[in-house]
Amino acid sequence: MLIECLRLTASQVYLVHGPRPVLVDVGLARDAPTVTAWLARKQIAPRDLGAIILTHAHADHAGAVSALAHWSGAPVVVGMGDVSTVHSGGRDGSSPPTGIRRVLASFGLIQAYPPLPRHYPVIPVETGLELEALGGVGAVLPVPGHTSGSVAVVLDSGDVIAGDVLIGGYLLGVVARSTPVSHFHHVDRSRNRASIGALLSTGAHTWHLGHGGPVASESVRAWLDRSPSG
Ligand SMILES: [Zn+2]
Repeated sequence: MLIECLRLTASQVYLVHGPRPVLVDVGLARDAPTVTAWLARKQIAPRDLGAIILTHAHADHAGAVSALAHWSGAPVVVGMGDVSTVHSGGRDGSSPPTGIRRVLASFGLIQAYPPLPRHYPVIPVETGLELEALGGVGAVLPVPGHTSGSVAVVLDSGDVIAGDVLIGGYLLGVVARSTPVSHFHHVDRSRNRASIGALLSTGAHTWHLGHGGPVASESVRAWLDRSPSG
């Protein structure tokens, strides 16, 4: 199996079996021991990990980045627009306005987390990136909109790991997990919509998301057609 998914309390992380195993997202700060135990059960030693890719820098996806980085030593791959957020542990200036901030905080999405030290190796994604650890199985693409530095992992198998461009199901993926649902917060909704279109044009068939899913591309296309605002 090329992709494996670990469901955490607030989000999901993925393991991609490329030339070297790659972890996509890391969960909340408190999820670190759960994620490392999961990797250990898969016989993945810390030094085996080829990269840690963050779909974006929100706390429920990137909160354990510092712990996982220290555990593995693997480079952290993050969209250019989210690098400063990772280095500030979710405290940078690209935060949404106060009212929305409060709602997001109540979902645990924007809480602060242990920052990734500045000396730690980071691979920023500005345009499509071929990673050695994903050589022959896929690439990392910028999909800005949910955050300015959101990225997706696009695999040659037709699977995409797309973070929060969409949610699979209602109540953050608890109900009807294969139904595409708009995320309640994007920094730029029309850019996110364009990013979804770009991912569809890769010929992907299955969307693996940060919450809920997986969702079939036909459902995403139908959702895009009937949701003019994205
Ligand atoms: Zn998010």
